[in-house]
Amino acid sequence: MAIDLESTDLVRLTELDEAWRVRGAGARLDAIRKAGRRWRDRILASGSARCVRTADVATFPYPARYGLQDVAALPWPYVFLRNRTHLVQVAAGGRVITILVNPTDAVRSARAPFFARMQERYGTLATKLLSSAAPPIEDALRGWGVAPEAVDYVTFDHLHVQDVRGLLAPAAPGGRALLPNARLLIQRGELETLSALHPLQVEWYIPDCLAGVPADRVIALDGDYAIGGGFAVVRTPGHTGGNHSIVVVTDRGAWTISENGVCVDAYAPGTSQIRGVARYARDAGVEVILNANTREGSLDQYTSMVLEKTIADAVPDRPELPQHFSSSEMIPHPLAPGLAPTYSHGAITHGAVETGAEIAAARASA
Ligand SMILES: [Zn+2]
Repeated sequence: MAIDLESTDLVRLTELDEAWRVRGAGARLDAIRKAGRRWRDRILASGSARCVRTADVATFPYPARYGLQDVAALPWPYVFLRNRTHLVQVAAGGRVITILVNPTDAVRSARAPFFARMQERYGTLATKLLSSAAPPIEDALRGWGVAPEAVDYVTFDHLHVQDVRGLLAPAAPGGRALLPNARLLIQRGELETLSALHPLQVEWYIPDCLAGVPADRVIALDGDYAIGGGFAVVRTPGHTGGNHSIVVVTDRGAWTISENGVCVDAYAPGTSQIRGVARYARDAGVEVILNANTREGSLDQYTSMVLEKTIADAVPDRPELPQHFSSSEMIPHPLAPGLAPTYSHGAITHGAVETGAEIAAARASA
């Protein structure tokens, strides 16, 4: 059964619609840059989120030729990335809405064909030594004092290596899901990709990642949407067809979250201290470096990253760097010396968490 979006907390934002329809990749980039400023003004005017928290999920090796588009002048075959998840709470219609952003299930992710092949090649032990999983999402919620029942929405910037069943599918027929009240916010384009994977997409998706998730737990989006004050998803196609970025506003201004680039160097390559990156950016005349494991739409991925830079505020004491938070961020690692970000946000921490008990009490008295 399709969900009537009128019955949800979602507000459609149309400022970018026309710009994405512009034909000609260069003209589309210009149009997105202009319309992106209006979109940014709108989301800033909606106010700040009530709170944002960050938790580490897993660390894993990733081919260097993908991570920085093969432009770093270092011989190491792998960079190391760390996934992180965010808790975001916003006020809407007199109540608090709780959203989980990128709550990757590290154990299930390991079954994605890309990781499975890596394990085959290097052996389980090697993979275990290289990768590490942080506590599962239940522990993160407990740490924040938020009951699983309090989570209203879950969203991922895209579904590469994701498996949503552990969160939203009942553990047994007729049983309860881990997050019994949560609904998945996902672009329709990502669902269409999943429904019939192209051979060049197979490596990155877990095809049955939504199996058993009730249809009324999935909200298919066509475009950009805000929830309450200081939270929105904005289409950023290219890395995948149904890619979107998460935008949160804190007391430090706007942040964007996605995997379009793997560290802040990808968004400010001219100032990168990673060998080879700044020179490449200068010689090629580019202002972003793509996370290039897929080539679904590289020109639009570039445009999407420019959009993220347009929306995000600058780091307060580093005005040359945007507050873009890479959902899989490159981290320093002894097996990849020199392949470390010039600057790392590490976490977004803002406001005070409203716990499940407080939310339940507010709902009861409403
Ligand atoms: Zn991806």
